[in-house]
Amino acid sequence: ANNQISVKLVLLGEAAVGKSSLVLRFVSNDFEENKEPTIGAAFLTQRCTIGDKNIKFEIWDTAGQERFANLTPLYYRNAQAALVVYDITKPASFIKARHWVKELHEQAAKNIIIALVGNKYDLTLDSESGEEIEGARKVSRDEGQDLANEENLLFFETSAKTAFSVNDVFTTIGEKIPDA
Ligand code: GDP
Ligand code: MG
Repeated sequence: ANNQISVKLVLLGEAAVGKSSLVLRFVSNDFEENKEPTIGAAFLTQRCTIGDKNIKFEIWDTAGQERFANLTPLYYRNAQAALVVYDITKPASFIKARHWVKELHEQAAKNIIIALVGNKYDLTLDSESGEEIEGARKVSRDEGQDLANEENLLFFETSAKTAFSVNDVFTTIGEKIPDA
């Protein structure tokens, strides 16, 4: 088709926030409860039609190296989009997310589209009643939204487990990608 666009998208964020799970949900509509960090392809593609755009996401996930060492700028060089992921039940992961946003603004392509993603939303809700579990959430929605507003990021709260808002992240990025 015409208007065929390839988009290099990278994932950044502290270990265990759910980066690989978000990719698995988007690409395979699947979830694994105890996902093995070192297993899994670090490169996956997913096609997506958005309006008259036919987008091929070329998704670079980490192979778990964020546990042991910093990712080098080579990892996100030439990326047109990045997901900076944190776990809304883990404040330290939000601090790490701030650090990644700063690094991307300093080192990545000037026009990169960055989505800030607060994952594991399901852990803040009672699975029976659907009501908020007191104290489960450790990063407020406002903290996430404020950072996104300050740094000009897209912002989502997601659950790779329930699929909540996961597709929105990718389709919104796709909408913002300029036409070929
Ligand atoms: P990564 O290290 O950032 O790639 O994180 P993983 O995708 O490997 O996920 C780490 C752990 O968190 C695994 O046990 C996942 O099953 C779990 N996990 C990932 N996303 C979610 C989520 O949205 N909700 C819940 N409850 N668990 C999740
Ligand atoms: Mg992973």
